[in-house]
Amino acid sequence: MRIIFATHNHGKVEEIRKILKDLDVEIISADEAGISEDVIEDGKTFEENALKKARFINKKTKEWTMADDSGICVKALEGAPGIYSARWAGEGAPGEEWIRRLLSEMKNVPEGERDAWFETSAVLVAPDRKYWNFVGKVEGKITMEPRGVAHPRLPYDAIFIPKGYDKTFSEMSGEEKNALSHRGQAFRKLKEFLIKEILK
Ligand code: IMP
Repeated sequence: MRIIFATHNHGKVEEIRKILKDLDVEIISADEAGISEDVIEDGKTFEENALKKARFINKKTKEWTMADDSGICVKALEGAPGIYSARWAGEGAPGEEWIRRLLSEMKNVPEGERDAWFETSAVLVAPDRKYWNFVGKVEGKITMEPRGVAHPRLPYDAIFIPKGYDKTFSEMSGEEKNALSHRGQAFRKLKEFLIKEILK
């Protein structure tokens, strides 16, 4: 079986290949499938956006496809930035700007009220367009200042401490973060589904 992962982010492809490595499934990126166009992510939820991305590739190839959409949601900001996580500091703004904006919106939110969560929808689409959605969620809180060095495309890692820990995601190793992260959870659920329902 092969699944086309609707992303141009090769870091993500590697991360997901690791999670699915013991299955007899080949994961290829949209680029490797010869698709370079992007779909407009104008859905209202993580699920809608992930589904748009996966169905776009499915429509062109008629193959199994999958896609994910994630973001950080802050309780005191009524769930913002949420689906706008990558864009709300302005298209193309550097990571430090995203952090500065979030910390500035939260400057009057006291220590005990800084609850937040990262969420991922991972969507799997079958050749006949049927789809399944797997959700991963990790709760925690937003720090007052950045801590640790975040990956340039994941700046919020430096200001998020998962519940039960005293380190930000940036202060953890990749393995430690993947073991509890939203994306890891969602794709482990997708993996269980493949094992039980598709590859059986
Ligand atoms: P994507 O849908 O996985 O590409 O994520 C969209 C945006 O959500 C990213 O550009 C980040 O701003 C944010 N995001 C998602 N996952 C993470 C994470 O693990 N750490 C930090 N930021 C994240």
